[in-house]
Amino acid sequence: MSEARDELLLGDARPDLADAAWDHVWIGAHLATMRGGGTPPLGAPLTGASPGADGYGELRDAAIAVRGERIAWMGPAADALRAPAIAKAEVHELSGAWITPGLIDCHTHLIYGGNRVAEYERRLSGASYAQIAREGGGIQATVRATRAASAQELREHAAVRARRLMAEGVTTIEIKSGYGLELATERRLLEVARSLERDLPVSVATTFLGLHALPEEYRHDRQAYVDQVSGPWLSGLAAAGLVDAVDAFCESIAFTVGETEQYLRAARALGLPSHVHAGQLSDLGAAELAARYGALSADHLEYLGADGARALARSGTVAVLLPGAYFTLRQTEPPPVSALRAAGVAMAVATDCNPGTSPCTSLLLAMNMACTLFGLTPLEAVRGTTIAAARALGIAADRGTLEVGKRADFALWRIDRPAELCYGLGANPCIGVVHRGQLREDARHG
Ligand SMILES: [Zn+2]
Repeated sequence: MSEARDELLLGDARPDLADAAWDHVWIGAHLATMRGGGTPPLGAPLTGASPGADGYGELRDAAIAVRGERIAWMGPAADALRAPAIAKAEVHELSGAWITPGLIDCHTHLIYGGNRVAEYERRLSGASYAQIAREGGGIQATVRATRAASAQELREHAAVRARRLMAEGVTTIEIKSGYGLELATERRLLEVARSLERDLPVSVATTFLGLHALPEEYRHDRQAYVDQVSGPWLSGLAAAGLVDAVDAFCESIAFTVGETEQYLRAARALGLPSHVHAGQLSDLGAAELAARYGALSADHLEYLGADGARALARSGTVAVLLPGAYFTLRQTEPPPVSALRAAGVAMAVATDCNPGTSPCTSLLLAMNMACTLFGLTPLEAVRGTTIAAARALGIAADRGTLEVGKRADFALWRIDRPAELCYGLGANPCIGVVHRGQLREDARHG
């Protein structure tokens, strides 16, 4: 570049662009910043701009610049080209691709031993749930396989699943323990979750799901198990820095409201945020309990009354919808989306990746199901895996939208409009993923 040209650029550039040199610029893109507000645009016309263009916070013919692992600048592509900060940047031309915030899968049980494919096949060949349970199947089978697996085996199998999620634009994965149900194995699961973050270009949020199922050895003393989990297990794992949040399965087949409350109280005393599996099979008042404890999220919610929805709205607790489990269990009562919407509850969408009820490693498919089966608008579903999912993990200040200063986590898509992320069945239009400002190697060739 000539000196004269340099001078011209400096003279033209806005002062706020002249500050720091950019490392990378993605240019010629349409950005869905997800910073838009407002209610879902139900009934908007089918042609022209995306219904809810404002809600997606669209910036057309734009550029996004990164310095280090932060978003440094966003704006019209023409302005980016004239900015001095671009001088030494690596420029990536996107020819009309879309960029969204990196997707966030805010509810997974990603790490477990074995799988339940034989059980799946048996059931579809006519075996009943009771028969399978008598043969030692179900969650207890996964607990046995998980206890028997080494950390390396657990890591290798979970990494395969994590990579499938990542290939679809996922940059943050929440991972729950809960298949150990004994301290040493719960610790191993959480350590493996932490190690995935070190091994792979993805961020992980860990959740100690202490109250998932009652282990066989405590079958005759439930209270002793709840006391252990809420007491020494939780405090030990938290002291080891392995617990970002806690979770409990509050359900007729799992733990009562009282047992869950004991656990949430213990977490609160340690300053740990919480999630609650609530209302998957029945309405025990678990959502109200989650709200009372200011939980980050209440998850599932197929069985939720109007009072529960209002309680979640008051506490700012995010409703995490998990259509993969609903689909696998062939449930027929969807979550009360209209009531959640009317109450103003933020709705997130996640895979619930687990070996029994949702062997799902496609967040895009979960978004499709949230629209098709639950009636979310595509805008709500995209919010559900970006800003609402970030809120469900308590990380919205740093992730979930495209904003200057936030982490440079974003996904590049070959799509015509953001709703296309929900539209396809089995399609993956992701052509690249940027995590902490770096284009991921595995995504380079899309
Ligand atoms: Zn779950």
